Amino acid sequence: MSTSWFPEPDNSNLPYFDGARSGKLRLQRCDDCGNWMFPVRSRCQSCGSTQIKWADASGRGTVYTHALLRREYHPRHAGRLPVIMAQVDLEEGVRVNTNLVDVEPGAVKAGMKVTVAFEHSPVGEAVVVFRPA
Ligand SMILES: [Zn+2]
Repeated sequence: MSTSWFPEPDNSNLPYFDGARSGKLRLQRCDDCGNWMFPVRSRCQSCGSTQIKWADASGRGTVYTHALLRREYHPRHAGRLPVIMAQVDLEEGVRVNTNLVDVEPGAVKAGMKVTVAFEHSPVGEAVVVFRPA
């Protein structure tokens, strides 16, 4: 078992984590209809195609909803409460669960424009977060 608090990459989501390490938000996209997907799928939800490729997303989105986490549920939360949990609607049409950074909790509003950012660990892993655009 890993001692890292980072999510464990596996074969299906490796491009996502590789992308984060290199500062890119990478998501699956259907090669047939252009539909973006998250989380990882083996078949397009829109047209049923299995021709799915990884592509760089814009990293731009808007806050759909948010909540404050005031208790520590994960080692990653240590010393940084409250953590701002958010659902962000990306320009690509997918909604992601994420954390917001570089913003006061009271300043977060639904509809706020955000852009992707990356939290890096000392061992070189990276987690996708968002900050005000
Ligand atoms: Zn499709």
